[in-house]
Amino acid sequence: MAYTITMIPGDGIGPEISEAMRRVVDSTGVQIDWEIQEAGADVMDKYGTPLPDQVIESVQRNKVAIKGPITTPVGTGFRSVNVALRKALDLYANLRPAYSLKGVKSRYEDIDLVIVRENTEDLYAGIEFEQGSDEAIELIEFIKERGGKLRFEDAGISIKPISVSGSERIVRFAYEYARREGRKKVTAVHKANIMKYSDGLFLRVANEVGEDYPDIETEDRIVDNMCMQLVQKPELYDVLACPNLYGDILSDLCSGLIGGLGMAPGANIGEEHAVFEPVHGSAPKYAGLNKVNPTALILTSVLMLKHIGEREAADKVFNATRDVIAEGKNVTYDLGGTAGTSGIADAIIDKIQS
Ligand code: NAD
Repeated sequence: MAYTITMIPGDGIGPEISEAMRRVVDSTGVQIDWEIQEAGADVMDKYGTPLPDQVIESVQRNKVAIKGPITTPVGTGFRSVNVALRKALDLYANLRPAYSLKGVKSRYEDIDLVIVRENTEDLYAGIEFEQGSDEAIELIEFIKERGGKLRFEDAGISIKPISVSGSERIVRFAYEYARREGRKKVTAVHKANIMKYSDGLFLRVANEVGEDYPDIETEDRIVDNMCMQLVQKPELYDVLACPNLYGDILSDLCSGLIGGLGMAPGANIGEEHAVFEPVHGSAPKYAGLNKVNPTALILTSVLMLKHIGEREAADKVFNATRDVIAEGKNVTYDLGGTAGTSGIADAIIDKIQS
């Protein structure tokens, strides 16, 4: 069966790592028509926006997309295309596996964790009131009238909504993922002892959803303790179900456990659509040099192949990538080698086809 998949190469190092990934996936024999869609800083002049409508329409049509990183200018310019895509397609689940690979320098071995991060709520909902604005002053008055106390009134305010619906769907996603992937345990991460009505709600819903999955162990950890535990005893953990902010922080912590962002794959998944993208950014200073490591995007394609049901091809890509990195002969500079972006892809393709 042939698939049509949207490919968004992105900008910076995006196009070259996307090309490497595409060649690796094609070498498995899975028939994919790649529908290439341009987005990012490079298309601003052509379309007047970094996220033209046809990009979203293409993902809506094809249901599955894989993308390279896209630059978000700091201070001026446009808002994050990555965040806009997640919002437009309601990609509520951010999946970030973190596993050790032999040949990658790290303080830890045998890490095998999966962060499932809620992508739409929490302090990232974008509901903020600037210090001194009429809205902030009005809100502070409202809080005082309702018996709330502020130590100082010259405060900026960010709202943290956590809903039953949002918590239920992300926790269920974590359990379904655990079941599908043969994982043993889901740990809900929270700070329910302090934030009783937001994190407390998340914890309650997580425990209720856990009752529907008696085959998988359910537990919870307070986020500060979770940080220490991950550093001291990462082997005790498996799938972590997290509200947005804790998931963001813990996924970088877990990337640190496996030797850095360059190896970290990711996926943004909704009810109908999925956009697969590595955790790292567009590294503009390396753009066009055929130098950077395409591994994170290639491992991201493993998640995509599993998502469309091509498990055998996913295993082939994963095993070949793992073996090339373990051998250490044809790897990029960040892994201590001299191969270029296309060189490591060639080595992976040779393994897949041998
Ligand atoms: P970055 O991940 O682009 O780069 C930081 C450093 O990490 C690079 O200078 C490089 O040394 C190293 N690095 C990153 N990817 C690598 C790879 N594949 N191989 C080898 N080394 C690699 O982070 P940044 O500099 O903070 O961000 C650059 C731009 O990317 C920003 O505009 C940011 O907003 C954007 N960004 C986009 C996404 C996304 O598209 N999802 C994610 C993160 C950052």
